[in-house]
Amino acid sequence: MQLYNKLSAKERAELIDKSGKKRLTLSFYKYAKIGNLQIFRDHLFITWNTMEVLGRIYIAHEGINAQLSLPADRFEAFKAHLDSITFLKEVRLNIAVEQDNKSFLKLKIKVRDKIVADGLNDNSFDVRNKGIHVSAKQFNDLIEDETTVLVDMRNHYESEIGHFKNAITPDVDTFRESLDIIENDLNDQKEDKKLVMYCTGGIRCEKASAYFKHKGFKNVYQLEGGIIEYTRQVKEQDLENKFVGQNFVFDDRRAERISEDIVSNCHQCGNPFDLHTNCANEACHLLFIQCNACKDIMENCCSSRCMEINRLPYEEQKAIRKGQGNSNDIFKKGRADHLSYKKDLRNILNRSENEHS
Ligand SMILES: [Zn+2]
Ligand SMILES: [Zn+2]
Repeated sequence: MQLYNKLSAKERAELIDKSGKKRLTLSFYKYAKIGNLQIFRDHLFITWNTMEVLGRIYIAHEGINAQLSLPADRFEAFKAHLDSITFLKEVRLNIAVEQDNKSFLKLKIKVRDKIVADGLNDNSFDVRNKGIHVSAKQFNDLIEDETTVLVDMRNHYESEIGHFKNAITPDVDTFRESLDIIENDLNDQKEDKKLVMYCTGGIRCEKASAYFKHKGFKNVYQLEGGIIEYTRQVKEQDLENKFVGQNFVFDDRRAERISEDIVSNCHQCGNPFDLHTNCANEACHLLFIQCNACKDIMENCCSSRCMEINRLPYEEQKAIRKGQGNSNDIFKKGRADHLSYKKDLRNILNRSENEHS
């Protein structure tokens, strides 16, 4: 049984060139409870190695985080293998925009303590020294307290469609950014204020709460199990629900409705709407909020430019993509300049009105 790479990066690169096969680069991650990491790790390695998968994969007791490439013609087999693993069934696979046959030259599956690349040096503080976990009931009481500062530890595109009432929702793209913002904002109140945090499933708060304690915050609390568990407890115990809108989730559902309130707007027409979509143009794939009316008009694209590209035959789309390099929009997640409301849409509406008149 081969459990480790035999080829050097150089040998692998030559092999990829010689095979002439197109490779797909993709990524996925999933939070799940994994028991025996070594067995799971070896199982993945043996199976994926035979499929010529290359990449960097982290597994931990909290889940899996994978970035990898594989020959395009192995994709179905790979997907079938993922589907055979209970917690990876139908996991969302993010296919890279810029394909590079040599994005990875080795298969590295590493057992780690954490799967989240949070930009923090764990050695600098004790992650086990975390904040006080609170139940939904305790959380509801705590956030009514005048000395409480309630902080949403998620990114801007998550809190945009749903959050707790009166929560601070840092306008950040990464977890790391929000830590500094919060610390700066509360710098002279570290001892008097109660810092109460929440995130989707609680994992991000685990690390954040330890970080803030390390930074000198005296009263640090976190919502146990995050929004997901809060919602379950609220229903089970018939508590008041203080979360408004949708809970953004990292799978194909994209969001779970927690309350009927719609707290965000379509990024194109501005009407109240709270469901994200990805631009249908594969080279763009921008994550943004698009109402159903705009989805029809814009053919599920974020801009008229993307509509044009998306209408082209697939081969032509690929040819265009080739020369262009990576679209940065994919990382903007609703921030792309052209979304600052509906410019494209207006142009299209005007055009079609003129055509009809
Ligand atoms: Zn709209
Ligand atoms: Zn687009």
